[in-house]
Amino acid sequence: MAEGGSLETPNIREQFLSLCQAYTQELPQRIASIEKIWQHVLEETDGQEALVHLHHLIHKLAGSGATFGFTSLGDIAHALESFIGSIIDQGKPLTVEQHQQIDTLIIALGEVAIDCSPTTAAFPVQPQASPRLPQSELSERLIFLVEDDFDQAQAMMLQVNYFGYTVRVFSQLAGLREAVATTPPAAILMDIMFFEGGLAGIEAIAAIQQERRQHFPAAKPIPVLFMSVRDDLVARIQSVRARGEAYFTKPIDVGQLIDKLDMLVSHHAPEPYRVLIVEDDSTLAAYYALSLQQAGILSVVVTDSMQVMSPLIEFKPDLILMDVYMTGCNGLELAAVIRQQEAYISIPITFLSAETNLDKQMDAMSMGGDDFLTKPIHPQHLIAAVRTRVQRSRVLRSFMVRDSLTGLFNHTKIKEQLSIEVMRSDRDGTGFSFAMLDIDNFKRVNDVYGHLAGDRVIKSLSRLLKQRLRKTDFIGRYGGEEFAVILPGTDSLTALQVLEEIRVGFSQVRQQFGGTEFFVTFSCGIAAFPQFRDTARLNDAADRALYRAKHEGRNKILLAED
Ligand code: GH3
Ligand code: MG
Ligand code: MG
Ligand code: MG
Repeated sequence: MAEGGSLETPNIREQFLSLCQAYTQELPQRIASIEKIWQHVLEETDGQEALVHLHHLIHKLAGSGATFGFTSLGDIAHALESFIGSIIDQGKPLTVEQHQQIDTLIIALGEVAIDCSPTTAAFPVQPQASPRLPQSELSERLIFLVEDDFDQAQAMMLQVNYFGYTVRVFSQLAGLREAVATTPPAAILMDIMFFEGGLAGIEAIAAIQQERRQHFPAAKPIPVLFMSVRDDLVARIQSVRARGEAYFTKPIDVGQLIDKLDMLVSHHAPEPYRVLIVEDDSTLAAYYALSLQQAGILSVVVTDSMQVMSPLIEFKPDLILMDVYMTGCNGLELAAVIRQQEAYISIPITFLSAETNLDKQMDAMSMGGDDFLTKPIHPQHLIAAVRTRVQRSRVLRSFMVRDSLTGLFNHTKIKEQLSIEVMRSDRDGTGFSFAMLDIDNFKRVNDVYGHLAGDRVIKSLSRLLKQRLRKTDFIGRYGGEEFAVILPGTDSLTALQVLEEIRVGFSQVRQQFGGTEFFVTFSCGIAAFPQFRDTARLNDAADRALYRAKHEGRNKILLAED
């Protein structure tokens, strides 16, 4: 298994060239093997088995030749491949005529392999600008809060902090312009009335944005959210003219404010696409990996089809590109095996093969493949094909695995993930923790403040979990006001520590709705692998610990007992 993925690897063109060179060097050997097997076919009384072997070798040549620029070699191999294929299908001994035809084509193959050198068609992909590197986490979440009322500023800073933002407070307009110029924040929360004037906040922003436009014409304006006791049309119009993204009247509904902030600030670089390449021809596999890498697509190569399970678990591909004819196990069978496991029922599998026979392609689909790409495939086509398939599958998957209110994983997905985590931990011997959270007395929140307020509370806990847990943790909405969290590589005591912080943080969030304020808590139970060693036991243990926490008075986290 080799990572083909680093985005920063320079000299991709050189790597392409050296792959092509390697292929060119291997070519005489490949042709020699074909000639040798052909001799076996002729010598043996029953040459059927040797003929199948010959077919396999030529099939590989048909798939790879044109890829590396040996166009006419690829053409001849293709012709030979389908000719021999049809003879095998008939299952009869070779006729003299067929024998002569194959002989002629194999000789031609040898000649073409010696004569031609690869054309530049083998590496036609233009290097692309490397994808934008995400800014550091800190400045991505840095918020300037400009507010001259000390108490309001402190209260607001605490609230916004809870949701994972770093807040820098300015109690006056002076100094703001310089600060924006040196460390541009992800957004500005701006009061409007200052001692300089009733619209001084808006005027200051207008000046800052204009200065920014002059110095960095290409830069986007910094998102600004105005907040004021003023609710008059003049202030609102001025704020729009200053390109304000939102206007909040005081008292501020922090839930709404955070929603807006999340929306404006969350332009994280999208996760690169991940492709698992299963291909027994290592040169060809490396070529595909390199082609994808140029487009910023990560890939892992498996050349031994028997080793496919571990990268499936570790690398979590969006798509599997699967060769059909491989030594050991064929791609169709492998696809069927992968599909038998519940966790991989929906992973897209695209077969890559020199097979042009439509019937055979259809067979492949019925075995669980999603579609077919025919070798040789031009790198640009490969990239385009992979992109559209991954995009489509990510969208579909997000409907299938995400909860619509919170955007967290849904019940099915988090349970599926739990079983994957058990499999993984079984293999590599690391532990993980599984936690179940339930909001306390939630029925009362609904009864007193209404269902909408309840929904807002669910969202606020989900947001807090997303922001406080690591990117590698899995967070799901388990049921109505229940959440489940998987913390890989984390023992129960560490999980307890992490979740305790979140418990305390959540209990301090001022839940605001319709002008009233209230506080909400949650209870939690934690069970860890390997103390509890399968999904059913983990579930049950965490659930019982949660039940005890409720029983002992709520707003509490307990570890599961044996
Ligand atoms: P406990 O502390 O024992 O967990 O008490 P509780 O009131 O939270 O528990 P209970 O299970 O009795 O009530 C949960 C309530 O959550 C009942 C249901 O109406 C409400 N609920 C479930 N899903 C949603 C939702 O999506 N939105 C809102 N607003 N309420 C929901
Ligand atoms: Mg193969
Ligand atoms: Mg409940
Ligand atoms: Mg509850």
